[in-house]
Amino acid sequence: MKRYRQVCRRCKKSWDEDAYRCPDCGGTLHSVYEFRDREYLKTMMKNAETFWDYRALFPVAETGKRITMGEGKTPLVAAERLGIEGLFLKNEGMNPSGTFKDRCMSISFSKALELGARGVVIGSAGNAGAAAAAYAARAGIPCYVMVPASTPSQRIAMIAHYGARVIPVEGSVTDCIELIGQVCETYGWHNVTTAAPYNPFQADAEKTIAYEVAKQLSWQVPDWIAVPVGGGGILSGIYEGFQDLLALGLTDRLPRMIAAQETGCNPLVRAFREKKAPGEIERIEHPQGIAVAIADAFPLDGETALAAVYQSQGWADDADDEEIRRAQSLLGRREGIFAESASAAAYVVVEKMRRSGKIRDGECVVCVVTGNGVKELPRIEGEMELPEPVACEISALKRYLASQFQI
Ligand SMILES: [Zn+2]
Repeated sequence: MKRYRQVCRRCKKSWDEDAYRCPDCGGTLHSVYEFRDREYLKTMMKNAETFWDYRALFPVAETGKRITMGEGKTPLVAAERLGIEGLFLKNEGMNPSGTFKDRCMSISFSKALELGARGVVIGSAGNAGAAAAAYAARAGIPCYVMVPASTPSQRIAMIAHYGARVIPVEGSVTDCIELIGQVCETYGWHNVTTAAPYNPFQADAEKTIAYEVAKQLSWQVPDWIAVPVGGGGILSGIYEGFQDLLALGLTDRLPRMIAAQETGCNPLVRAFREKKAPGEIERIEHPQGIAVAIADAFPLDGETALAAVYQSQGWADDADDEEIRRAQSLLGRREGIFAESASAAAYVVVEKMRRSGKIRDGECVVCVVTGNGVKELPRIEGEMELPEPVACEISALKRYLASQFQI
């Protein structure tokens, strides 16, 4: 028997048959699980050692083939040298392709195979595309990745490296996602895009970040969770995960959610500042900035994300390129964590909130480092001066140490 039903967020109808969109109105579907067996789920939460140990809350068949390669179970590291007491970094850069999107792809590909997919397609700014390409390799099915033509070449190279077929599109990542929404049925492709309106099956993946954080903090709930927002699914997913834990009685409250964006692409932050309703977020015309992983002209999961920010009495703010560069460097130099620029934006927002007193003394904050910055090395390399080589000889080395490091 199925443990979940898909419910349409728009018309509220519920469905037993799996579908990518509401068969009636085309609205976004989400999976609603029976929480009748609370003790079983509580034991599952307490004992989970791997991502797939949470499968009772995934929208997949009990017995299907799983496409997995050790995603999830990422470290929660206490920041010790950043000067912000009570700050933890959830390092999603440790996932197989270097971002939290691997969680989404493990479920998406397992589901696509269960539904008989012979090929998949995705619109992505690089992170989800690389994750999809890697999991497609594991699944052994063709993968078409539509990326904005402006995507940095190293990100395209990574997708191609895994053997996926890359299609650069003249438009933003939102344009790519909307375009494939129109061609999926034509070619019989399954949509593994990480936006719930196009692929509801990945939306439960990010809930596991909440499950893991709660377990890692011995079931204490952080006061705040800071998340970079591109599409917004990760923010609403983490918040829903904490709602599950509360419903199961494993925790006693919810965290306040912080949405972080880049100044050059901040549709959700703008809506928050203007106190707009979650359904009133407006598209950005020309996304700009170095945080390409969150350069979504329109956050396709922004409605649920902004609702989570409001409901949790959270906050939303942005960071500019300069602030992001500085924070990215700081995270590397002080904590040894190579965060992608999108994640550095979340740290910048936490820093500002701490400075302004919005985050108070003694409060616990988790900043989600969504991806590994190694993907941005060509840009970072271009921004720094690399050292000249020295002759392999002791007197030359001594002169070098004296001139370079004054020792
Ligand atoms: Zn509907």
